[in-house]
Amino acid sequence: MKTLRLLLGDQLTRAISSLTDLDADADVVLMVEVAEEATYVRHHKQKIAFLFSAMRHFARELVQEGIAVDYVRLDDPENAGSFSGELARAVARHAPDRVVVTEPGEWRVLEAMRDWREELAVPVEIREDNRFLATKAEFAAWAGEKKQLRMEFFYREMRRKTGLLMEGRDPAGGQWNFDAENRKALPKGLRVPPRRRFEPDAITREVLDLVARRFGDHFGDLEPFGWAVTRADALDALRSFLGEALPTFGDYQDAMKTGEPFLFHAVLSPYLNAGLLTAEEVCRAAEREWREGRAPLNAVEGFVRQIIGWREYVRGLYWLKMPGYAQTNALAAGRPLPDLYWTGETQMNCLAQCVGDTRRHAYAHHIQRLMVLGNFALLAGLAPAEVEEWYLVVYADAYEWVELPNVHGMILYADGGIMASKPYAASGAYIDRMSDYCRACIYDPKVKDGAGACPFNYLYWNFLIENEARLAGNPRVAMPYRTLAKMSAERRAAIRADAARFLGTLTSTYGT
Ligand SMILES: Cc1cc2nc3c(=O)[nH]c(=O)nc-3n(C[C@H](O)[C@H](O)[C@H](O)COP(=O)(O)OP(=O)(O)OC[C@H]3O[C@@H](n4cnc5c(N)ncnc54)[C@H](O)[C@@H]3O)c2cc1C
Ligand code: SF4
Repeated sequence: MKTLRLLLGDQLTRAISSLTDLDADADVVLMVEVAEEATYVRHHKQKIAFLFSAMRHFARELVQEGIAVDYVRLDDPENAGSFSGELARAVARHAPDRVVVTEPGEWRVLEAMRDWREELAVPVEIREDNRFLATKAEFAAWAGEKKQLRMEFFYREMRRKTGLLMEGRDPAGGQWNFDAENRKALPKGLRVPPRRRFEPDAITREVLDLVARRFGDHFGDLEPFGWAVTRADALDALRSFLGEALPTFGDYQDAMKTGEPFLFHAVLSPYLNAGLLTAEEVCRAAEREWREGRAPLNAVEGFVRQIIGWREYVRGLYWLKMPGYAQTNALAAGRPLPDLYWTGETQMNCLAQCVGDTRRHAYAHHIQRLMVLGNFALLAGLAPAEVEEWYLVVYADAYEWVELPNVHGMILYADGGIMASKPYAASGAYIDRMSDYCRACIYDPKVKDGAGACPFNYLYWNFLIENEARLAGNPRVAMPYRTLAKMSAERRAAIRADAARFLGTLTSTYGT
């Protein structure tokens, strides 16, 4: 039987379900660079270059294995520009008995795939994505009728299922979670390890030229480009992280520093999400570092939790709740995305630094995404759909299955508390404690009101005032609401006035 196997750009592993029963004598693997996917949002240039280059390298590896690959480049004059169009052309070219594909990471593409069953004259088999530790059905069974889906409990299930960091039936070290040890500020003079970067080879150079030509007006710097684009180099990046940064990962996980976008983070998410590395191998490798005495348990547990906890959890949540999940707007937020998210032009130094890192690297670490860029989006009442599109555009690791729950649920609370038990709202004190940004800012994080005050300070209280009817009944925010209740009418009015003045200065001319 001749099978046409469509491989999407983020499915670059030989172990993917669509290739498991591949017959190298009869089958054809179809890979397509389509304009629709590169432009349905205006992705960061490095993100497009990373994916196209990784696809071309993976196709070459398959060919070297003796597998027939039909690879359609973006600049092929016949390119139909969409998965559906290219698949139809390939079916006409190869006359297969069936088409096999692994499900995508976005609801939108899955819907299109389901239509192929009717549009094409051959059977289409859509297989489950086998790269995750929990299947959709397992996640749905765990979620059951629960009103709130707490990651921590799901994470424990994943620890038990995988045996990662387990001593028999108990968690290693007697605790499931060592987060309490993981919130240190960076001490002065601490050496930050250099990160492994990879010189572009001829294939990547060709892609960089293509991206410069076709997507030159998209957000972000294209070069210097240092991402790994093969599994071998991604494994090299993993080894470098394990040796250099993992031992300190936990301690400074929440810290932020000017000019140091990576600190002790793994910088592996683009590789994990595109298939170059698997979640399981990365976690087993980290566990080995602890078992062999090279990394402490708080670091390794914190790291493993991000992957078998958060990463699996957001994916499960996405598929459980879509398509309705993206439509909710529990805090009725509607302000358009301000230009500063694109330009970085703002006097708020923390925002300027985080947008700058994002523009240069298509990367910002978790706390920058959550507590600076995300916190501002929440407090300023930005429209969820516009914020979601921005996050999908700007990060090399962004796919809707992982971006949407993090933005919609975790930072914006737009799902009304399915994911987070309370909004992650914070004043300037948090950023001051965890970063050096405030030292070079014209605003003062210790000043609460007036023109010199850190905008996060009054925006925080303004947010609580504006959402009083929606949030005051939540016991997790009872304390700030008690403080608010004791505030004088004059102070409340001053907060409202400061917030209105500041928000009135935001311009939104670019759109998403
Ligand atoms: C608003 C917001 C948007 C985000 N959007 C994305 C996204 O589009 N794609 C993406 O992969 N991650 C996203 N994250 C999660 C996280 O910020 C990134 O995975 C992480 O910064 C990637 O860098 P790293 O590899 O150095 O991660 P590390 O901090 O070293 O963590 C290790 C790994 O854990 C996983 N991980 C950690 N936190 C999360 C999380 N909350 N959700 C899912 N996986 C997690 C990632 O695979 C990451 O590579 C988002 C977080 C926030 C708050
Ligand atoms: S003072 Fe406020 S705006 Fe300035 S860097 Fe600090 S937290 Fe950001």
